Amino acid sequence: MKIICIGRNYREHAKELKNPVPNEPVFFMKPETALIRAGLPFFYPDFSKNVHYEAELVLRICKLGKHIQTRFARNYFKEIGVGIDFTARDLQDRCKEKGLPWEIAKAFDGSAPVSKFLSITRFCQDSHISFHMNLNGKTVQRGNTGDMIFSFEEIISHVSHYVTLKIGDLIFTGTPAGVGEVKTGDHLEVFLENEKMLSLDVK
Ligand code: MG
Repeated sequence: MKIICIGRNYREHAKELKNPVPNEPVFFMKPETALIRAGLPFFYPDFSKNVHYEAELVLRICKLGKHIQTRFARNYFKEIGVGIDFTARDLQDRCKEKGLPWEIAKAFDGSAPVSKFLSITRFCQDSHISFHMNLNGKTVQRGNTGDMIFSFEEIISHVSHYVTLKIGDLIFTGTPAGVGEVKTGDHLEVFLENEKMLSLDVK
């Protein structure tokens, strides 16, 4: 199982980190050891002083595929959930400065809490899906699939051109604006539409 993450998929977020808006999806991966199952806490890592939350919609791949065409991509996911792409922003900034890969900032243990999954059929196919994250009870991020630069289908098609997708793989589809720091003692909640999907303590 692998975790694929899309970067810079919302214009306002690309802007807030002063990144250019990409003309094709940017992706990176996290290993299976990054996963935190629902109900478990996030332990603040000792190698960073600036860990950011990035709430994202997460797709679970249900079918083996490579070179998937956009028009068929819809057949490769049946479920949707939410997750947090924890990022050691200080390490990432250093990597970016040196033109190095981001792995140490993105792929560390526990950097990918993921919620339960819901059938995508619960959402009307043509309507946009919204989500939001609360930090200590206050909403800090709001996202809507209508604001994504690349759709779920375009992401799946692009990634599968390079990497075979397997059943159970997870795709984090990018974070909207409003990312920020977490601190020990914080409580994070992520909602899909109005349903609370993920609840997480930072320890
Ligand atoms: Mg992200």
